Amino acid sequence: DKLRLDPPEFTVKNYACQRRTPLKHNNTHLTHALELLAESAAFGENEGRSVAFTRAASVLKTLPRSVQRIEELRGLPCLGEHSLRVIKEILEYGASQEVESTRQSEQYQAMKALTGIFGVGVKTADRWYREGVRRPSDLMDSEQKLNQAQQAGLQHYKDLNTCVSKAEADAIGVIVDQAVQAVLPGAQITLTGGFRRGKESGHDVDFLITHPEEGKEEGLMPKVVNWLDTQVGQKGQNSYLESKDGPARPPSNMDRFERCFSIFKLESQSCSPPEREKSHQWKAVRVDLVVSPFSQFAFAVLGWTGSKLFERDLRRYAGQVKNMSLNSHSLFDSHQRCFLRATSEEEIFSLLGLEYIPACDRNA
Ligand code: ATP
Ligand code: MN
Ligand code: MN
Repeated sequence: DKLRLDPPEFTVKNYACQRRTPLKHNNTHLTHALELLAESAAFGENEGRSVAFTRAASVLKTLPRSVQRIEELRGLPCLGEHSLRVIKEILEYGASQEVESTRQSEQYQAMKALTGIFGVGVKTADRWYREGVRRPSDLMDSEQKLNQAQQAGLQHYKDLNTCVSKAEADAIGVIVDQAVQAVLPGAQITLTGGFRRGKESGHDVDFLITHPEEGKEEGLMPKVVNWLDTQVGQKGQNSYLESKDGPARPPSNMDRFERCFSIFKLESQSCSPPEREKSHQWKAVRVDLVVSPFSQFAFAVLGWTGSKLFERDLRRYAGQVKNMSLNSHSLFDSHQRCFLRATSEEEIFSLLGLEYIPACDRNA
């Protein structure tokens, strides 16, 4: 029929690393719905289904205008039957029954609240849910054993579920830079994660630390953390160090950098003095620190800038299309059986045969 002969409205490449995904786009009412279903699938430990919804949402983020009719989506990749059904329902009726009932469900709400605790993953949250735990407050006087990270997560629950602003991220950056310069002059720190992609707020602040002289960065993390711990403004902070040497047998998908998932106490600056009297004078903020040798720096920046889907697709593209293996340390060419060196992100994209995508367009 005629419809089939019309050219597609949009053309979108298959892998997220082959296309530009800006922060602001025109289909948030659709992407929020699909991302809620992705989140719910992840709560049910259905990774495949979760990624499928995430991919569908990501494709809609690249479209230059808001979708009006389902027919406009013809020919687009990553839009499965289920995602299309949800989109169609929203376009026709303004909302999707499945999305709204998921949003209202006791399980979704409890899992959302419990996985919102720092140190609590889906597995733990699900076990607690089956044992009757519904809210973080249920854990306060329960028998459940909490590890050190989870105790801190519970203690700072409200702060850690309040977005970190760019201004707060910059203030943290000043503290981290001070600490790093104090223990290793000449070291360089780089803001990564969502803030590097241009986000105005985030759930944490991510930094990558290196030193232009290879080897100087070794053993840096414990020194930085120790320096921070002894600072007046940082007293009582909690750090969860992960050294290169431990855990004993790290999972193969985890990278081997020295890193630290920590909670900073950030002195509030924005409040006027009378306001500061009343409320507490600091805010708990999640900070991720990663140390990289200079020779791996480009791979580390690329790997820690995200988004998560962009990273996933970069690695999938490298493997499936180029027969290469990419992680945040290196790029291995399986055909030539050698590691390919790179000193910038641009070079890595070029080695992969990809057009360079700047960080602000990696919001897949
Ligand atoms: P947000 O604003 O919510 O923090 P984000 O994009 O910064 O968004 P993060 O969870 O902070 O999200 O992750 C930042 C980057 O670090 C992502 O590219 C992610 O792939 C990477 N990353 C996070 N955790 C790990 C990990 N355990 N191992 C390797 N890389 C990770
Ligand atoms: Mn982040
Ligand atoms: Mn992070």
